[in-house]
Amino acid sequence: MDFFIPRGECIGERTRAFRRAFFPEASAAEWNDWHWQLRNRVRTFEQFDRMLALSPAERLALQRDGSMLPVAVTPYYMSLLDPANPQQPLRRTVVPTQAEHLRMPGEADDPLGEDGHSPVQGIVHRYPDRVLFLVHDFCPTYCRYCTRSRLVGHGEYSPKQEQLEARIDYIRRTPAVRDVLLSGGEPLSIADDKLDWILTELRRIPHVEIVRIGTKSPAVMPQRITPELVKMLRKHHPLLMSIHFLHPDECTPESATACARLADAGIPLGSQTVLLKGVNDDVATMKRLMQNLLMMRVRPYYLYQCDPISGSSHFRTTVEKGLEIIQGLRGWTTGYGVPTYVIDAPGGGGKIPLQPDYLVGREGGDVVLRNFEGRQYRYPDPRGRGGAAKLEKGRSPRRKS
Ligand SMILES: *Cc1c(COP(=O)(O)O)cnc(C)c1O
Repeated sequence: MDFFIPRGECIGERTRAFRRAFFPEASAAEWNDWHWQLRNRVRTFEQFDRMLALSPAERLALQRDGSMLPVAVTPYYMSLLDPANPQQPLRRTVVPTQAEHLRMPGEADDPLGEDGHSPVQGIVHRYPDRVLFLVHDFCPTYCRYCTRSRLVGHGEYSPKQEQLEARIDYIRRTPAVRDVLLSGGEPLSIADDKLDWILTELRRIPHVEIVRIGTKSPAVMPQRITPELVKMLRKHHPLLMSIHFLHPDECTPESATACARLADAGIPLGSQTVLLKGVNDDVATMKRLMQNLLMMRVRPYYLYQCDPISGSSHFRTTVEKGLEIIQGLRGWTTGYGVPTYVIDAPGGGGKIPLQPDYLVGREGGDVVLRNFEGRQYRYPDPRGRGGAAKLEKGRSPRRKS
């Protein structure tokens, strides 16, 4: 069985063996302390070279300095990597290769035009009623396909008091904002009391109805989800969380424990997944991920087409692939397990949903539909004739004039 819901503290076998091999001096209490995980992040070529059999492409990238995006992996996440196989999905997402230094047409450092929608440093206000609040530019582990690689890890978005106050002040004087999404970087990489202060200040603003936290901690540093953190977070309801998960191998006992604590605190959990070539771009992998997430009480929320971020060409796959995956999920597994597939429009148009086409066309007073197995069905749509010209796809099976 490669997945189970743990009861109480639990450590995966692979993680235990890794700790014994590379951190033999660390006690269980240290390993399970997120501060220890942060202090012992794997960052140097020598460390990677000791823990993994590096491929030439990884070796070159790790020896080269001046990457736009820093390199760091928590010991916990490092323990999930396959030391022998550079093509292992999790390994590809956190260990850089030379491919990162290629620049392709259409790529940009800020493809979503976030900087153009930023009224105050650290706030992105693109949609009418909600804002992105970039808490911190630091991450415990840097994903090589990061959509904010232009700014993470550079220290400019540190959670300095006056910067945080300016962001909160923008929200306070903008009554249209009813939803604040804390992101970064990793918003949970700041101390509990600092986060408590931000949430308290936001909660004191009458027009802020909900707060969301976008995080990858449950996947890369589940030790961060302590009982103390959860106790603090539950004071600030309604609070929701979007958790970045990529691959079923991230659904470990540790990660399941972290999600269970959050879910038990009444925090609705959603997942965000980036579609990545050779990592999760097949139906079987994605279905297993979504099913594991449901067992962890995480409701799949978004599947993102990979943004055309500079140096990401080796991760990008086609839109057809994304549609094929959604088609392979819808009807074939629990509807709760089917995320919305979106392209975040380059230039700052926001998230645009994409669906496989289940509407075949119109025939007389009927709409012709295709089910998940590809069979055709009709639905009598009495008002359709005159009103819904939009439904005319020009691909009606047999058009009667
Ligand atoms: C994704 C995003 C949001 C949140 O979008 P939802 O569809 O409400 O989850 C808000 N602001 C920005 C700038 C975003 O990129």
